[in-house]
Amino acid sequence: MPRTARLALLLVAVLAACAPGSPESSSPDRPPNFVIVFADDLGWGDLGSYGAPVIRTPHLDRMAAEGQRWTNFYVTASVCSPSRAGLLTGRLPVRNGLYGDQVRVLFPDFVGGIQDEEITLAEALRDLGYATGMFGKWHLGDRPRYLPTRHGFDYWFGIPYSNDMMSTLPREEQRDAFLDPKIEYWDVPLIRSERDEAGEIVTETLEQPADQTTITKRYAEEAVDFIRAHRDEPFFVYLPHSMPHVPLFRAPDFEDHSDAGLYGDVIEEIDWSVGRILDTLEEEGLAQNTVVFFSSDNGPWTAFRTQGGLAGPLREGKGMTWDGGMRVPGLFWWPGTIAPDIVTDEIGSTSDLLATFLSLSGGVLPDDRLMDSLDLAPVLRGDGEGPRNEMPFYRGSELYAYRVGNFKAHFITQGAYGLASERTEHDPPLLYDLALDPGEQWDIAADRPEVLADVTSRAMRHRAGVAVAPSEFDRRTGD
Ligand code: MG
Repeated sequence: MPRTARLALLLVAVLAACAPGSPESSSPDRPPNFVIVFADDLGWGDLGSYGAPVIRTPHLDRMAAEGQRWTNFYVTASVCSPSRAGLLTGRLPVRNGLYGDQVRVLFPDFVGGIQDEEITLAEALRDLGYATGMFGKWHLGDRPRYLPTRHGFDYWFGIPYSNDMMSTLPREEQRDAFLDPKIEYWDVPLIRSERDEAGEIVTETLEQPADQTTITKRYAEEAVDFIRAHRDEPFFVYLPHSMPHVPLFRAPDFEDHSDAGLYGDVIEEIDWSVGRILDTLEEEGLAQNTVVFFSSDNGPWTAFRTQGGLAGPLREGKGMTWDGGMRVPGLFWWPGTIAPDIVTDEIGSTSDLLATFLSLSGGVLPDDRLMDSLDLAPVLRGDGEGPRNEMPFYRGSELYAYRVGNFKAHFITQGAYGLASERTEHDPPLLYDLALDPGEQWDIAADRPEVLADVTSRAMRHRAGVAVAPSEFDRRTGD
């Protein structure tokens, strides 16, 4: 453990011993707590502060009004599993095998998953003395060795994969089931996993199928309980909601809550959950010492039409490397440290959270492997420039597009889930200026050959620095 981390840990221990429950729990000497609320398949345009026309998100809008709203925040993949891998490991999925070229996400009983050598955000923070709790969807492998409590989380309450898996219906009836979803159509387990007093990990299935109508509420209430239980020590709460991934469910008190139909109801319940977290932090006197981050794992699943969300002005959605698939909301809230009502157009990635949170908590990034994690803390504090000027867009192991500054070149484009085009290789590549044309409508490759040459050469340099690990998702043998 680095010296600074040991000192921070010592300080925390002293403070906790001297004054449990006192105002010192928000002392500037204590490293900040971290809360990540991560929606599933929520689009860039689904929040009020991002221009949602009908859906109401007052609590998320409050995060924007009291904190920092990022307009150029990205994920590392346009589908669930590799996106979550990027957030938790601070590395591109191609580097650690958490991608697939044959299948794009992990399915129940697959042999692959997150490897023990990976250092997750939860492991890094736990090494600094944080209590680590996870409430929601995992999706990095469902065999016992892959589950969250083996990868840095002290406690996990949630579903191991997507809420549309384990269908109980014949294939021809599966798609229509989303139009009138019933709990019993998807036999997904709700699991609790934690260490017992002897230090052994105990994992139990609480329900199967999980009652998805109450899942958003229960994730939030479990997270609130965890925050209250750990108010006197640093904590990391990871709250990856199962919603609004189809099938869409919400609690009875959110039925017809929104004028934007079932999808709107679901988003408004997620917004309620964020309100529960913010209110709890304030009630416990922890708000000034807690960084709350909100985002989504990929863009809206537009193949589900009115049951999918909106990407705002961005093109396409989930599954694709157009910006609608990978640019997501990014809200940071940290009263007293992040100045209120700031909108930034700096580029950020969920893979940057690891470097950022370690920077804020006195940790250091692993130096025995190549990382894709940059420290965004200067932007959060308002005392420096953003470190990220480039953004790769991968589909599986292939680099489809690359962004440098405001320019984005597409080398390959491809539709997803029956939408849009077949795979197309572009020579010359397509080029868009995202500042003028966030919808990627107007190809300017012919007008700006010098820009295209620069973006292409930077993309090739990036690619040359990435060793592609064998796919864990496509693996069919082994443990
Ligand atoms: Mg997703």
